[in-house]
Amino acid sequence: MTNQIKIQVNNLSKHFPITAGVVFSRTVGVVKAVDNIHFSIRDGETLGLVGESGCGKSTTANMILGLEKPTSGQILVQGEDVARLKGKGLFRFRRTVQAVFQDPFRSLNPRKKIRQIVGEPLMVHRTGTAWEIKNRVLELLELVGIDPQRADLYPHEFSGGQRQRIAIARALSLNPSVIILDEPVSALDVSIQAQILNLLIDLQEKLSLTYLIISHDLAVVEHVSTQIGVMYLGRLVELAPSEDLYQNPLHPYTQALLAASPVADPDVKLAAVLEGEVPSPLNPPSGCSFHPRCPEARPECKLNVPRMTEIRPQHVVSCILYPGS
Ligand code: SF4
Repeated sequence: MTNQIKIQVNNLSKHFPITAGVVFSRTVGVVKAVDNIHFSIRDGETLGLVGESGCGKSTTANMILGLEKPTSGQILVQGEDVARLKGKGLFRFRRTVQAVFQDPFRSLNPRKKIRQIVGEPLMVHRTGTAWEIKNRVLELLELVGIDPQRADLYPHEFSGGQRQRIAIARALSLNPSVIILDEPVSALDVSIQAQILNLLIDLQEKLSLTYLIISHDLAVVEHVSTQIGVMYLGRLVELAPSEDLYQNPLHPYTQALLAASPVADPDVKLAAVLEGEVPSPLNPPSGCSFHPRCPEARPECKLNVPRMTEIRPQHVVSCILYPGS
């Protein structure tokens, strides 16, 4: 039986106006941080969203978290429109959808003991008595592989990997069903990255979690994701079941990302694989915005934005090399 859709993103866009003038500010341009993207994630599954910095991955995550309002389009989480949530509905949503960010050192308050950090959401949402919260915190620490006897230590007394485990424990405290992971391992040593990714896989199985995991490195999301979306300059250029994407990448940009991974710094390797840099989102190239860097580009690529077209089951791509795009 196919799982229910947990997150549905329909024609989602986020445009930031650029203004000039101190007294009479006027709009002089628009940055299309996210431009008309569409995907869904089923219950208990993972979508890995990849692309270089500034491609719109984090803006997409922030809109799903309700931290940014879309310019247009719609995000449904468990059938509810995130942009319309208010009052009790918003309070319930905040428990359902949690986030883990890139740098655990910044996201954990250095002046608080980890017992307080992990227990804070439980206090805010008044989930039980002080005794119940204390026990829940110890249970959560154990769940993520932190010795509960260290609950009275401060974040700086833990390694980077342990701090990310603590951030995950905090995100799990309210029993969410969705976790948005924004570059969850990119601040960690390569040797520690696999441990955190394995922990995420274990937790997903145990707690039936749905993940959206964002990374600039395809190698990071490979073993965690059910499906992968590749973004370039605010647009989704390829979306496919994970195994199919790694075995048969269709878009020239996805092929370049795969050629650049896995290495310690995929951005550096990518520069060697692809000519030129990511164009400014303030003035994106016409037609297929990848054309100035694409090894397969032809004159017609500059004319129109290729349509997302299903080439194989659930494998869609936006590139004129494929019929229908
Ligand atoms: Fe390359 Fe043209 Fe395809 Fe864009 S549409 S990815 S420029 S071949």
